[in-house]
Amino acid sequence: MTADASRVGGVLHCFSGDAAMAGECVALGFYISIPGTVTYPANTALHEVVRQTKIEHMLLETDCPYLTPIPHRGKRNEPAYVRLAAEKVAELKGLTLADVARITTRNTAQLFRIAGMDYNATLAYKIRNSLYLNITNRCSNHCTFCAKFEDFTVKGHQLLLDHEPTTAEVLAAIGSRSDFDEVVFCGYGEPLLRLDLVKEVAAVLKSRGTKIRINTDGQANLVYGRNILPELAGLADTVSVSLNAADAATYGALCNTPFGDIGFQGVCDFLQEAVRHIPNVVATAVTVPGVDIAAVKRLALSLGVQFREREYAEVG
Ligand code: SF4
Repeated sequence: MTADASRVGGVLHCFSGDAAMAGECVALGFYISIPGTVTYPANTALHEVVRQTKIEHMLLETDCPYLTPIPHRGKRNEPAYVRLAAEKVAELKGLTLADVARITTRNTAQLFRIAGMDYNATLAYKIRNSLYLNITNRCSNHCTFCAKFEDFTVKGHQLLLDHEPTTAEVLAAIGSRSDFDEVVFCGYGEPLLRLDLVKEVAAVLKSRGTKIRINTDGQANLVYGRNILPELAGLADTVSVSLNAADAATYGALCNTPFGDIGFQGVCDFLQEAVRHIPNVVATAVTVPGVDIAAVKRLALSLGVQFREREYAEVG
């Protein structure tokens, strides 16, 4: 195995190693291919491989006519049974079958350089049961842990915009679809940098009875120099704010806020103010090595908001 595998690409066919080995292979630039044996209840080692390996590094296969998945075990394997492996991977990763199909199809196209994939940016994209809106790639912060600086693909969706969409374009991308539980303003950028568009689109969606979440860095009041939260009252059901640290020094080092020391205080103030206008307010932190997640949680609770930890290097 060469350390330059990423230059040519490669796949560990019908992977049967453990999670540590899978991690080393991924670090060398290989994809990990998951066969139908993932459906076997006793194959806990492969289940752990699936849990610990980012799905962006996974392919699916059958290895037919061998290694027939449950419930057909003992009979000849068929290509059509790849769905059974996909369903098990979806269960283990907490994704939908559609998510797994989309992501592993894109992985396959990238590995084998298969032409014909649509690499245009997606404005409205579904992950699990949420419909996300990709309205800007701009951010106030420049977070050290952000995956967008390497790749603009999230769970199989291409998010690199060639222009910032208008309200009409975003509404057209949503269309009349209703196959989701909530709409999330997120994308790979800071949605509240497009406050007017957020308010316009949210107002239309609210009139349809849609639940709305806004994922934000919590610095909008600093950006606009005014309290924008009353403007979101009645439009957003949830705001999820990236708190990420328990003190200004850590926040500054992690997130590179353009507002210096007041950036962190601005996020804390935003959280406290949000509770007055939005029904659900959640502070989040990414489990970046070295961050005291327990301290961030204590801070969030002291600010009167909920807390959710987000896994490092897992986006979407
Ligand atoms: S705010 Fe979000 S999208 Fe922007 S740099 Fe930070 S992690 Fe990335």
